[in-house]
Amino acid sequence: MARHRPSKHTRPARPLGLASFQTSATKQDGRWVLRQIRAGQSTKDYRCPECDQLIRPGTAHVVAWPHTPPVGSTSGLDFRRHFHTSCWNRRP
Ligand SMILES: [Zn+2]
Repeated sequence: MARHRPSKHTRPARPLGLASFQTSATKQDGRWVLRQIRAGQSTKDYRCPECDQLIRPGTAHVVAWPHTPPVGSTSGLDFRRHFHTSCWNRRP
């Protein structure tokens, strides 16, 4: 075992969990920032805007919001929506 700098607290090397990685995708209606929600990470129902069905708690899915905030808004995050992963992938 190699010696590492001591730290006050034991922390994971990579910020997994809630700070899961973000990616981006370009769709017909613009560029989106994506966050993958893993199974077990969500705790409430969301309605998928693509199929109008509920995404049940604990279901792996995708959160997407506009890369460029709409006019009059400071953050695209305010416009985030939850999609089933398959519904997101189907979007043109
Ligand atoms: Zn859906």
